[in-house]
Amino acid sequence: MRSILIAGNWKMNMGPKETADFFAQLEDAAHKEITGVEAAVCPPFVSLSTAFSSRKAGSAVKIGAQNVHYEDNGAFTGEISTAMLKELGCDFVILGHSERREYFGEDDKIINKKVKKALAEGITPIVCVGEVLSERKDKRHFDVVKEQTAGSLAGLSDDDLRKIVIAYEPVWAIGTGETASPEQAQEMHSFIRGELTSLFSKEVADIVRILYGGSMKPGNAGELLQQPDVDGGLIGGASLKPSDFSNLIAIASEQ
Ligand code: PEP
Repeated sequence: MRSILIAGNWKMNMGPKETADFFAQLEDAAHKEITGVEAAVCPPFVSLSTAFSSRKAGSAVKIGAQNVHYEDNGAFTGEISTAMLKELGCDFVILGHSERREYFGEDDKIINKKVKKALAEGITPIVCVGEVLSERKDKRHFDVVKEQTAGSLAGLSDDDLRKIVIAYEPVWAIGTGETASPEQAQEMHSFIRGELTSLFSKEVADIVRILYGGSMKPGNAGELLQQPDVDGGLIGGASLKPSDFSNLIAIASEQ
């Protein structure tokens, strides 16, 4: 059985003070260990330390980063290494988010290097794939997601894949208030699982969690999470409010 992962992507929001406030306001129930549900938030780099120190003692909420570099160290001004994230205690790192692809020129080759580095450091990559609106309109969405999936995961073993989370994020649904319908999400998630079966094996494809991302919020999370191949959510806007995030965890625990 795949456990549900509710992961918050805070993007360039929430400095250290707001991060401390968030954890102070998160409902007690959200901090508790829930069988079959995992929760994580991914603050900006500068707020990671505060996230760790302001989490309630014994909190089950995990912490991740939104990006990492693929080199160990050295002359890469402005970058952060996997070892640095590990030292802080990060469990996850979001890789290949569409905003990184669009604004920072990240392609599947770069994402693939980052995935390998994160795995080598024992950090779980949340690998994002998803088509833009014109690609869906041209009915190329399956081809695009197939290429991104194969490219980002190139050269990995079955064992590596076990340690990866995929996030299907249709770009037209990110931050727009427009959500993929549960049927559209299920169709693509099942397609991705099929691709993982061809690239790796059915056994491991059945284990991998595939999150949906794109305007997920308490009002639509239930029907998305009910889909057989939707194993959680990567959530932007709605993860910034402690009450919404607490609610999303509660909804996941009802599935
Ligand atoms: C995201 O950026 O990963 C995301 C899904 O954002 P939102 O939930 O705001 O659409």
